[in-house]
Amino acid sequence: VDSITERDECPQVQQAIADPNKVVVVSTSPAVRAALGEEFGMEPGAFVEGKMVALLRALGVDYVLDTNFAADLTIVEEASELIRRITQKDQPLPQFTSCCPGWVHFTEIYAPELLPHLSTAKSPIGMQGPTVKTYFAKQMGLDPRQIVHVALTPCTAKKFEIRREEMHAAGDYHGIQGMRDTDQVITTRELARWAKAAGVDWNALEDSAYDSLMGKASGAGVIFGNTGGVMEAALRTAYAYLTGQSAPQSLLQLDPVRGYEGVREAQVTIGELKIQVAVVYGTANARRFLAHMKESGKQYHFVEVMACPGGCIGGGGQPKDLMKNADETRKSRIAALYQRDGAMELRSSHENPEIKAVYEAFYGEPLSELAEQMLHTTYYDRSDMIKRKDENP
Ligand code: SF4
Repeated sequence: VDSITERDECPQVQQAIADPNKVVVVSTSPAVRAALGEEFGMEPGAFVEGKMVALLRALGVDYVLDTNFAADLTIVEEASELIRRITQKDQPLPQFTSCCPGWVHFTEIYAPELLPHLSTAKSPIGMQGPTVKTYFAKQMGLDPRQIVHVALTPCTAKKFEIRREEMHAAGDYHGIQGMRDTDQVITTRELARWAKAAGVDWNALEDSAYDSLMGKASGAGVIFGNTGGVMEAALRTAYAYLTGQSAPQSLLQLDPVRGYEGVREAQVTIGELKIQVAVVYGTANARRFLAHMKESGKQYHFVEVMACPGGCIGGGGQPKDLMKNADETRKSRIAALYQRDGAMELRSSHENPEIKAVYEAFYGEPLSELAEQMLHTTYYDRSDMIKRKDENP
């Protein structure tokens, strides 16, 4: 992940803002709001969602949407896929998460035998892009060709992900060639640099709210930014789908998958099923976990892997000034997102009214034909990249 060169795409976003024929839509990832304040002298873990939205508006962005909405969408699709794998046995278990491009890239290069295990659900940004240029555009009366969709992320690897050749589902839907689902990725640090250069007074910014249709999220969407968050979020929804009841308190705070250890495990009972899960961060831990899985022969059902320490809150595009005390800074950011989740009424992705609305008006139901086309993807065996490197060192 670190080897991916950071290319600042703010100039392209500024150009689009200045162009009267463009509509600039920015979607903000879960982890940015737990770290952006550090760039303006705030303590690690300051939760600055409202100021972040206000900042984007001050910089001239037309619509500010929340990638946490798409995190909820990812959970609904990914939990449905997990249930299908367990009950219909159509694909192998364990299912591995696929929302981290660092982990997906690692699998494609170093562990291609695992590709059938990767969830086909796109990452939240991978789902947000095509949904903005179809559903959102239609509901708002916008021409999708005018939309410049920008992802504000903690992640430098997302710059690679949005340029994967298959990320043009909205273009296929509209029959428009060459239209990418997401046009630019800017990181937390790049946004802060842009704001400072533009002379925005951070302290004077009054909290602002997201635009609607794709701006509301559940607590499950919020914790996506933490290691273990995707797992916990998915289990809340899987529980509801399998039992027809809301997730119990033990799943609204699933302590064994929370924390800062590189590998954590839990067994969760849902009805008759005992689901064995594991949460891993960092590629060194992932290698160790895969070796352990092979040697022990233990049957896991669902495994979350994120490339960065602590998950996306520790992403390569996050503020670095406080990284002398890196672990403590990351733990404060993690705590900020759990605190926010705990304070919310809406805790599960499938209960989000905006998620219900997007299925009702557009996608139909999870894993529908349209959902498969727009929200799921395929992966490639890229192990020949190592062979080529060995042949031409
Ligand atoms: Fe990006 Fe790191 Fe998050 Fe993976 S864990 S999506 S590489 S920020």
